Amino acid sequence: MRVAVISDIHANLAALEAVLAAIDDEAPDAVWCLGDLVGYGPRPNECCAAMAERAGIALCGNHDLGVLGTIHLREFSYEAAAAAQWTREALSEEAGAYLRTLAPAAVADEGAVELYHASPRDPVWEYVLTDAAADAAFRHTSASLILVGHSHVALAITHEDGAIQGGLAPDGTELDLAQRRWLLNPGSVGQPRDGDTRAAYVLLDLERRFATFRRVAYSVADTQREIRELRLPEALATRLAHGI
Ligand code: ZN
Repeated sequence: MRVAVISDIHANLAALEAVLAAIDDEAPDAVWCLGDLVGYGPRPNECCAAMAERAGIALCGNHDLGVLGTIHLREFSYEAAAAAQWTREALSEEAGAYLRTLAPAAVADEGAVELYHASPRDPVWEYVLTDAAADAAFRHTSASLILVGHSHVALAITHEDGAIQGGLAPDGTELDLAQRRWLLNPGSVGQPRDGDTRAAYVLLDLERRFATFRRVAYSVADTQREIRELRLPEALATRLAHGI
């Protein structure tokens, strides 16, 4: 089975459409989404509808839960809270009903793959950005492949002889997943924070045990214009041009 894994769409429809077009060219068997469909960006309803139609597995993230009211917005930064507040009012009944069906963790491939929005020990909030957090993730589960989102940084981390290896996974990174356990973060579709402004995804071949990290250019200017027209916080528009 070949799977395209995406995460952290954040209501950026231009980025999502570009990624889905690239994924269509690869014709995978499934699309999995690791959460944060909404929040920050201008097009929450369209992004929820696309995932309802396309995603075989979709998780919810902290922003989705903030918009639904499951998480209090005082847990969020000023920009995140302002965008979540706007999203609550803009969210259609249909999109809200879809988000409420999602959980922050899932299991696939008969237990060989575990999916979390954030991390195995805290599926909603923990950022896996340090060796200590990666080590804890590997110790918390015995799955051979762990998929996480949340940090918006594309990562390929492995665990061998008790040591953490790996790190950033730029465009074109290819991995043989067969010999070791891996933790992968595909990066973010709608708000990359690893210095590459392009939308991110990872393509998995679960039979051949192979992963390929990909980036896709999209019209950052279109999403920035929509953010500004809606008077969402300006920082949410400017950061898209820097990939931070
Ligand atoms: Zn996110």
